[in-house]
Amino acid sequence: MDTVVAAPVCTVCGRRPVTAYRLSLRGEVTCAEHPVRAECMFCARTHDDPAPPGWRPFTAGMMRCPRCLVDAVETQREARLHLPSVRRQMTEIGLELPERVRVRIVSPQEAEAVAGPLATGVLLGLTEQLIGGEEGTRVTGISIVAGMPPTYFGRAVAHEIGHAWLALRGRAPVDDVVEEGVCELFAYAWLRRRGTPMALQLRSRLGANPDPVYGGGFRMVHQAVQRHGIATVLDRLLTTGGLR
Ligand SMILES: [Zn+2]
Ligand SMILES: [Zn+2]
Ligand SMILES: [Zn+2]
Repeated sequence: MDTVVAAPVCTVCGRRPVTAYRLSLRGEVTCAEHPVRAECMFCARTHDDPAPPGWRPFTAGMMRCPRCLVDAVETQREARLHLPSVRRQMTEIGLELPERVRVRIVSPQEAEAVAGPLATGVLLGLTEQLIGGEEGTRVTGISIVAGMPPTYFGRAVAHEIGHAWLALRGRAPVDDVVEEGVCELFAYAWLRRRGTPMALQLRSRLGANPDPVYGGGFRMVHQAVQRHGIATVLDRLLTTGGLR
């Protein structure tokens, strides 16, 4: 069988890059000689114009490229198209929520109003919990920020389902680093299941994340899982609140 591979053309000038080029997470190319004045926060595609035509802001100072805008999850209706498969894949991974938790699409401003401003990075999702009371911890909902491509949307949902699962299973107090690490592990597992080139790129980025809480926590939990298996690690977490 013959396979014809079209030579990729640059996203800025439309020509085939002659020497070096930059690669987006989607595999698009941009000549390295174009200065970087805008960068898509999702796929890392770059542009030499600080406000390129067809690009739109996500939050202040964060841009989205036209390709990432095409299928971005902007509304509750669009979220409903993607949620069933994410929930199903999480169940296949072994993370079934004991009760249904609503996923709500919120604006970046709404999410920040609830969580407070982040020291670094951008807030993409959060799980709201009521702790204490007669019924113990209740999860009131998961909020996911509007405007992300489906892979980022699913990754955020998978991470937040992790928090909801821990809360609903009545886990002992878990250290923040361990808790975020576990939720990143669930996101990591989901990205492998999704399996698209972008998902696999995001997955290796997640593993190499320099952030001490998210990246550091992930590596700590991942190592424990490789040594003892996921069942043992989750069991310890639910009984002792830690990894041992
Ligand atoms: Zn070019
Ligand atoms: Zn993009
Ligand atoms: Zn988290």
